[in-house]
Amino acid sequence: MKLKDLKLSNPYLKLDAACYDKVAPSPLQHPHLIHANKNIARLLKIDEDELETEDFVKFLNGEYKVEGSEPFAMCYAGHQFGHFVPRLGDGRAINIGTLEKYHLQLKGAGVTEYSRHGDGRAVLRSSIREYLMSEAMQGLKIPTTHCLGIIGSEHQVRREEIETGAIVCRVSTSWVRFGTFEYYASQGMFEELKALADYVIEENFPHIKGKNDPYALLFNEVMVITSRLMAQWMSVGFNHGVMNTDNMSIAGLTIDYGPYAFLDNFRHEHVSNHTDVEGRYSYTNQPVVAKWNLQMLMRALSPLTSMEKMEKILVIYDKIYIRYLHYYMCKKLGLEGTEIGDPELIDDLYDMLETLQVDYTLFMRTLSHYEGERTALLATGLYHEPMNAWLDRYDARIKHLDTAIRKKQMLESNPKYVLKNYILQEAIDAAQEGDFSVLDDLFKIAQKPFDEHPEFERWAGETPKEFRNQKLSCSS
Ligand code: AMP
Ligand code: MG
Repeated sequence: MKLKDLKLSNPYLKLDAACYDKVAPSPLQHPHLIHANKNIARLLKIDEDELETEDFVKFLNGEYKVEGSEPFAMCYAGHQFGHFVPRLGDGRAINIGTLEKYHLQLKGAGVTEYSRHGDGRAVLRSSIREYLMSEAMQGLKIPTTHCLGIIGSEHQVRREEIETGAIVCRVSTSWVRFGTFEYYASQGMFEELKALADYVIEENFPHIKGKNDPYALLFNEVMVITSRLMAQWMSVGFNHGVMNTDNMSIAGLTIDYGPYAFLDNFRHEHVSNHTDVEGRYSYTNQPVVAKWNLQMLMRALSPLTSMEKMEKILVIYDKIYIRYLHYYMCKKLGLEGTEIGDPELIDDLYDMLETLQVDYTLFMRTLSHYEGERTALLATGLYHEPMNAWLDRYDARIKHLDTAIRKKQMLESNPKYVLKNYILQEAIDAAQEGDFSVLDDLFKIAQKPFDEHPEFERWAGETPKEFRNQKLSCSS
């Protein structure tokens, strides 16, 4: 479809007017296209040649009139680092409408009623991080929001220093957060709370529509998909960094990419967010804090269904999370099903990797090629003994498995490439000089992280020492 033929709808605007602020995007000065995502365009049924037009830049800049568009920002609340903030909302993301079940949002498109003291902008570096990482998550088969395109500009934005503004067009089947429910509940707006729950069920969980006690079922669904998402993050070594309840998707998606990181050498206590001094959102704490966030959601849903029922649902979270984690880890280890002793094998793998300061991604990928010859694996750790001991146990476990089948499964489950922060920084540094070729390259490996890509081999090794375990600031 041509841009001029698009017709947007706005189902969210059927909810109470207190839930959003109708606000038009404020375009950036002198915008230019940095990258367009053909796969997402296909999903939205937008013609590929449209992505190369001036109109597409205007579209991403919020300047193109699309039929049916009624731009708005969403209101929500949220627990930030454990403290309740009664009124947050999209402070710089403006929804422009819905296409083919996907809600389109321009992030960095100016101030809204919820901007507080912010300028409504997003800088180039954080926009590149969101753009590439949402594609990388998709490549890793982990539920995520998407991006249709990214533009840069000459628009000056003040952070620690002067930077330039950018916009990503974010695309998702839902932008509703745990915090959206917390907003209505805390305002005592129970009719609106119910309407929001019905809206989410209709959009994201249609199979529970019309069932007995749909709100308890909704909580159950969100509990299950959240536990699965946590298991996926943990198995790939992803640290989100800001798991406030306003950054928790009701649809179980990875959402709001900020100071995230992939593990370099394996460290349970890794904290990617510089401002997180207590390590609330450390790598190892993610499944725990997700459960705490579910508790906040449960409270918010309590006017709609029995608290006791939801508490019973939440009790099984730990079991479900562990089951998912073992499922994904067994796949990564090439094990068929889970046998007695596998959970210990997995736990001891983590401990061994941490003790030996082994690069997590590199080790798992190297293990995917393993057929008994250990040199390459041993070279990834500081010393050999604990790794040899663990490999002896692994050898015993895989003895009866078909090697070709195991290797194939492992190569499809252990990415050769993850977008570590130092790699993303290369793309950012080049982009800030007007060179988008590194971004283009990273986009390719983001889409197919399990492929070999010999031309990009230099990004597949362990993180150079000087770049390991760096923290990122939230300023974006
Ligand atoms: P985040 O941690 O990026 O999810 O942001 C937390 C809240 O702050 C959200 O409500 C954002 O919309 C808002 N926010 C972040 N940066 C800005 C900005 N530059 N201008 C306005 N609001 C912002
Ligand atoms: Mg957020």
